[in-house]
Amino acid sequence: MSCVVCEKKAIEHIDFCRSCLMKTIEKRTRKEISKNSVRNAKILVVNDGNCNGEVNAYLIKKIVTITDKINYAKKMRNNKDYDFISVSDTADDEANRFLEFMLNSSKEKSPKKIIKLLKKSLSSEVFAYAEIKRIKYSKKTKSSEISLLDKLEEQYKGSKQGLSKASEKLEW
Ligand SMILES: [Zn+2]
Repeated sequence: MSCVVCEKKAIEHIDFCRSCLMKTIEKRTRKEISKNSVRNAKILVVNDGNCNGEVNAYLIKKIVTITDKINYAKKMRNNKDYDFISVSDTADDEANRFLEFMLNSSKEKSPKKIIKLLKKSLSSEVFAYAEIKRIKYSKKTKSSEISLLDKLEEQYKGSKQGLSKASEKLEW
């Protein structure tokens, strides 16, 4: 498989080569940040130590330079002291939660003012990014149930990111 951007050899099971994967993930991150006014904002970054959490925290440190009021915590707190909470949900997580919500509308919605730098990226891409950048993590990301969603993705490539995008447009 070749990279969808530059046509060089892509990483196995990934659409991009190493260099384009890095650029793409960081570009998506900048885009997510630019949608929120984070200048001087107080941000709580949730990082439970798994791969996605560590990559998210890494990206925050690398890219969010317009505020220094950033704190890190292992768990989500319902903390009114913060303007934003950054969680490490990927496109897989977003799509999964959205599907669950459609099947069972009593599921919890995500709180407002949340920043998800990784929501346009697949878990597999985030994992590859961590490998390239040698980002250490303590736990494996628990693979969200290999299920309906993965079958969908297999048959209709882009389903995860599509669902993640749809979930963004709907007020739910
Ligand atoms: Zn490339």
